Amino acid sequence: MANLLEIENLHVTFHTYAGEVQAVRGVDLTLREGESLAIVGESGSGKSVTMLSVMRLLPRNATVTGRIRFAGRDVLALRNSELRRVQGREIGMVFQDPMTSLNPTLTVGLQITESLRYHLGMGKREAEERAIELLKMVGVPAAESRLNQYPHQFSGGMRQRVMIAIALACQPRLLIADEPTTALDVTIQAQIMNLLKELKKKLNMSLILITHDLGIVAGMADRVMVMYGGQVVEQGPVRDIYYNSRHPYTWGLLRSVPRVHASRRERLESIPGSPPNLLAPPSGCPFHPRCRHAMVICEEEAPQLQEVRGEHRSACWLLHPQAPRVEWEEARAQ
Ligand code: SF4
Ligand code: MG
Repeated sequence: MANLLEIENLHVTFHTYAGEVQAVRGVDLTLREGESLAIVGESGSGKSVTMLSVMRLLPRNATVTGRIRFAGRDVLALRNSELRRVQGREIGMVFQDPMTSLNPTLTVGLQITESLRYHLGMGKREAEERAIELLKMVGVPAAESRLNQYPHQFSGGMRQRVMIAIALACQPRLLIADEPTTALDVTIQAQIMNLLKELKKKLNMSLILITHDLGIVAGMADRVMVMYGGQVVEQGPVRDIYYNSRHPYTWGLLRSVPRVHASRRERLESIPGSPPNLLAPPSGCPFHPRCRHAMVICEEEAPQLQEVRGEHRSACWLLHPQAPRVEWEEARAQ
């Protein structure tokens, strides 16, 4: 499969009154045509900022360096007209809170048809017919009669379906979903995730799912990329990340996933400590202040991503041949 998206050595720095915030620090990523990738990490890990760089939607106080190629084009060098083609037409994006991304003063029908008329040059009638089809496709009942309604007349889950319809209006090659279910109830969350999964298959597109919850990734993603402190700390096929992870931060994320069959008494663990201050990122491994396996070298030198097996890579000094022997199963369960 050809690569649809390639990111090389991406750095994003925000210039703020408090100083330079190094939000993304040397991220590499490839996404193949038709593939699903989950980017997982706590808030502030650089997941959203990485994807906003791909869409060229970062605020003006951001400096971006590195290389981003989408469908063979150099995204950072695109001129405005080409950029608009990529934004919204070739890449669709769904955000966490549909109430803030939908315009409350315009009907839902108008918001869907706008994109069809702008990007695909459809006439009013044709765009309306297509909007109804799209609403049906994302599971909005009585689609015809809802075209003239406003966002506040929809429930949270239905609003997110509308957002998905807008994102898919122009049949993008890539859908980026940034915490698409975080603002929703648990049962609705599962419905939206299933919808995304179905649509991905049906429309044969690539998907990047951004989430802080490693638990929703199973069954959704082919590969997982775990980010911490603006860097990729582990990546690989979803099975390797679930069953054979080689990074203490990933272990923490796995322990904080609620298990359906777990007894009530079993407490969910969150990772102790807080994410790093990106105004002054920690020396060495960004996770060392929170890592219970940290060694002297972890404070001094940053570990590089290295191969565990096949495409599975981890950036942790525990993988070094001279590191103390680790019983991986035990260490993960600790
Ligand atoms: Fe922990 Fe060291 Fe591995 Fe970082 S490199 S995750 S501090 S053991
Ligand atoms: Mg985010």
